[in-house]
Amino acid sequence: MSSVPLIFDAPRRGRPPRHLADLDPSERREIVAALGLPAYRADQLSRHYFARWENDPARMSDIPVAAREALAPALLPPLLTPLRQLETDGGATRKSLWQLHDRTLVESVLMRYPGRVNQRGVNQGGTERRGTDQRGRITVCVSSQAGCGMACPFCATGQGGLQRNLSTAEIVDQVVAAARVAASGALPGGAGRLSHVVFMGMGEPLANYTRVVSALRRLTDPAPAGLGLSQRSITLSTVGLVPAIEKFADEGLGVTLAVSLHAPDDELRDTLVPVNTRWKVAEVLAAADAYAARTGRRYSIEYAMIRDVNDQPWRADRLGKLLSTRLAHVNLIPLNPTPGSQWDASPKAVEREFVRRVQAHGVAVTVRDTRGRDIDGACGQLAGQV
Ligand code: SAH
Repeated sequence: MSSVPLIFDAPRRGRPPRHLADLDPSERREIVAALGLPAYRADQLSRHYFARWENDPARMSDIPVAAREALAPALLPPLLTPLRQLETDGGATRKSLWQLHDRTLVESVLMRYPGRVNQRGVNQGGTERRGTDQRGRITVCVSSQAGCGMACPFCATGQGGLQRNLSTAEIVDQVVAAARVAASGALPGGAGRLSHVVFMGMGEPLANYTRVVSALRRLTDPAPAGLGLSQRSITLSTVGLVPAIEKFADEGLGVTLAVSLHAPDDELRDTLVPVNTRWKVAEVLAAADAYAARTGRRYSIEYAMIRDVNDQPWRADRLGKLLSTRLAHVNLIPLNPTPGSQWDASPKAVEREFVRRVQAHGVAVTVRDTRGRDIDGACGQLAGQV
């Protein structure tokens, strides 16, 4: 009789190995029990991962060695292999290029904002300051897909198409890795706690809906179920997949929604955000309004300022008018040039005039800083290239 090796848990092609962050606590306990270990080991392991950001079994000295050796491959396989780390802003901005189990590449960016306002808060009536103040924040920008299928022509990720969806754990592990770095004291300013997560890396999060929603639960559930981050400290940015926004409003997650508008008119938005040919500006805003009504959370409108493309005064007026009655604020992003693009950022004077005109409609505006631009780690520059 020939002996066939029993490799129950070998990663299947195209599917990342199972990880505890893919599972809820009861599923983890079942797996642990099936390994012949007491079920509470699942919570112990989860606490190491979610509360201490530990993924090295060798440092889990409260778990017997034999148990660790069984638990680690079953629930804590390495998911992200660091291929390259780049830093700028004196180490306060760090981009990581990760290789996944199937050699797919994704990037995440960790940013620490020092104890002063360094995002130009251009406020209306002073009430916006609290919501847009970045003082003391440690934020990680995560990818939800390898590549992206949305094909926005100004975005580096959009140029290569979609490779695949990330698993829940592949998303969560980017956050845990960032929390580990923040806690290690490696960032300027010393050891700190990761405070914010933005889904603004590679991919369209609502196109990987189920896994992204699970990841959001893992990020917000308290340990040992998850990381225990506050819902309001998480921002999900979308091109505007209307049915998905509507569904997302029913998930009971109070995360902040950001909508990549980039143009107030359908004619231009059809070209800048191609999915607009399917769901128009009015429909996207209506879905965001419904989200805001449901969650009580103000949403943000992202608007990349592209020279001579979408930065005209009339478009500022149109945008201001469009948003004046809505629970929304505008986040202008100076365009980050991407390789091969014919587009440029708007001149500062044009940007200032745009801000002024939008504000004249009583709409709050902030201008995003261009953190990480020189390491291709700014908005829209993540491409996962080696
Ligand atoms: N798919 C999501 C997340 C994308 S990245 C979305 O589209 O919202 C987050 C933001 O960066 C989006 O608003 C995106 O349009 C913007 N962005 C993409 N490329 C950019 C670039 N080159 N310069 C400035 N912003 C860019």
